[in-house]
Parts: sequence; structure tokens; C-alpha cells
Amino acid sequence: MLMGPQNLPLRLDELRDRIAGAAARAGRSVDSVTLLAVTKGQPADLVRAAAGTGIRNFGESYLQEALEKAAAVSDLELTWHFIGRLQANKTRPIAESFAWVHGVDRLKIATRLSEQRPYYAPPLNVCLQVNVAGEESKAGVSLAELPALASSVAALPRVKLRGLMCIPPEEEDPARQRGWFAKVREALEALNASGMGLDTLSMGMSGDLEAAILEGATLIRVGTALFGARPANPGG
Ligand SMILES: *Cc1c(COP(=O)(O)O)cnc(C)c1O
Repeated sequence: MLMGPQNLPLRLDELRDRIAGAAARAGRSVDSVTLLAVTKGQPADLVRAAAGTGIRNFGESYLQEALEKAAAVSDLELTWHFIGRLQANKTRPIAESFAWVHGVDRLKIATRLSEQRPYYAPPLNVCLQVNVAGEESKAGVSLAELPALASSVAALPRVKLRGLMCIPPEEEDPARQRGWFAKVREALEALNASGMGLDTLSMGMSGDLEAAILEGATLIRVGTALFGARPANPGG
């Protein structure tokens, strides 16, 4: 089912209810959860419509598509997050055009992003992707290697390490779903106990955002629940 901008207000109301319900259960303020609207595969018009409802943060996974879309709505001054797979030979346009990068899992990539961040821009906000279930098919640093990577990335001059990101396995059982998010929250707490001052847990998507909010997500990345099925889905 394709969604046009006309369906957006209803979808957004339903989504806000889900967020508020989970936040209430967790004893958290709704304001502690930032909504990142994931617009990969969606047209620039839909970004414009979503921005019209007050959403400021947008996430994209494919570089070329993202650059074209951001240019088409550059008058809106939105905050763009790169949430896709990172390739070492494509870091420069990401360092130049995004405010946040969520999928950093190697020091080599982080170093390039830091070196390529333009002098006139503030440091690039970075989340380290954690492969919390050790899945072969997914990117991310292991929990065991996370502390070393985090301290190396935190030392880079032109990126600002903000926190952790994950895409855990989909679980039927809500308690098991929460379990993966809990591991990532605990990893963040452990880093902060060693003095890192991280403030971001980028976790939760359309299907599992309640579990993520219950485990402390500060930023949820939502596509389908807001915009319906993606019309074009190049490579994932
Ligand atoms: C596509 C994508 C999302 C959004 O997923 P939905 O299930 O459509 O909400 C979130 N995070 C990442 C990294 C994605 O690639």
C-alpha cells in the first residue's frame, strides 16, 4: 500500500500514541524520545509534508538518493541522518552533507569521517552500530570490541561520539525483544561509567519501537509506520 501525504496526519497520530504509551509505561517523558523519520525510497514531497507536521530529523540509507532529496528540500533546514551501510570510499559526501551518522562500526570509517568533515561545520555526530546478537548478515561492532572502538572514536577531533545504534533480530516475544535493547543500553551505561558522557540510544523501528523505548531509546528510526510501505526499496 503506497501512502501519500494525505495519510500522514493519521499515521502520525497513531505513532505518537504508540510513543506516548511506551513512554508512560517506562515512566519517561515523551520529550525524551526523538522521532527520526526514515524517508528512504520516499519522494521529496513526503519529506516536505512530514516537515510540515513539525518533524525536523530525517534519515536516509542510500547516499545518492539522500543527496538529491535533501537538495530538493534545502529551504526547510532539516537535520539529516545517514543510517545506511558505510563504505570507506564514500565517506566524503557523508561527512560534508549530514549532521549525524548512525552506522559507524570501524575506526577506519570514523577516521575518514573526521578527516573529511569540513572545517566550517560543527563536528559530525556519530553513533556506533552494535551487532548485539552477533548476526552474520548485519553490520556492527561486537559488544566485546565496543569499548576499544568507542575510546578511539571519542578521541577523533572532528566527530562527536553521541552513543550507540542497533538493529536487533525481530522477536515474536516482547520480553526477548526488550532483551536485545537492554544489552545495548547496558553497554552505553558501561561506557558512561568509564566517563564517556554519551547521550544517545538510536534504537527502535516501526515494529519494535515500544520495546526500545522501554529500554531507554532516545531516538527511534521510523519509516513504514509513518509513510506506509516503501514504493522503491533499492537493496533493502
Ligand atoms: C529502513 C530503516 C529503518 C526504518 O524501518 P521501518 O521498519 O520502515 O520503520 C530504521 N533504521 C534503519 C537502519 C533502516 O535502514
